Amino acid sequence: MKPRILIVEDEPGIADTLQYALRTDGFDPVWCATGEEALSRFAAQTPALVILDVGLPDINGFELFKRLHEIADVPVVFLTARNDEIDRVVGLELGADDYVPKPFSPRELVARVRSVLRRTAKPAPGTVAAPSATPIQVDDGRRQIRFYGRPLELSRYEYGLLKTLASRPGHVFSRDTLLERVWDDPGESLDRTVDAHVKTLRAKMKLVAPELDPIRTHRGTGYALAEDLPPALPV
Ligand code: CA
Repeated sequence: MKPRILIVEDEPGIADTLQYALRTDGFDPVWCATGEEALSRFAAQTPALVILDVGLPDINGFELFKRLHEIADVPVVFLTARNDEIDRVVGLELGADDYVPKPFSPRELVARVRSVLRRTAKPAPGTVAAPSATPIQVDDGRRQIRFYGRPLELSRYEYGLLKTLASRPGHVFSRDTLLERVWDDPGESLDRTVDAHVKTLRAKMKLVAPELDPIRTHRGTGYALAEDLPPALPV
């Protein structure tokens, strides 16, 4: 059965392009132009994933997101048109699974949809989920983080940053959020404080895995831990 994707988007042109790209890629897209319609469709048949435009005519995309999640926990990819919307997606930490700024390439969006579905896939009933082979192990008792089995020599801020990023691989944390979570007095610190510590953290991780790029920069928004780190170091 093809995975059903609910598209909530008020611009028919964008919705058409999306439906075509998804159908070509083996999905079953369903389009709703308003939030109300999306709510009733969603309640009638739970889709595998929702692509949700933030700027809708009747319900704000963030509000709709909350209402959908009251019905069922389905992964959501936001479509955002403006930078301040991206800031809200990232800053509010709504739990959106991804966001794609407009204009976007349909191909890229379909690739994101696939990756979100892979990431959020639940193991089939009766199977035991394999223990996730993560190359980053946080030992909070000892305040130590191992990267591919090797303990990293981290300052307390580097430790806090990596621990936070590793708590949700792939999730983009804004600089403000990182400041709030890791620094005692975030008001005294600046965005570039975060950048400076990420830089030294990267350098330390590079000593262990020179060919990997574990911390990804999302331009203008923040940082995320890469989700595609190999479980073992390439030999
Ligand atoms: Ca719109």
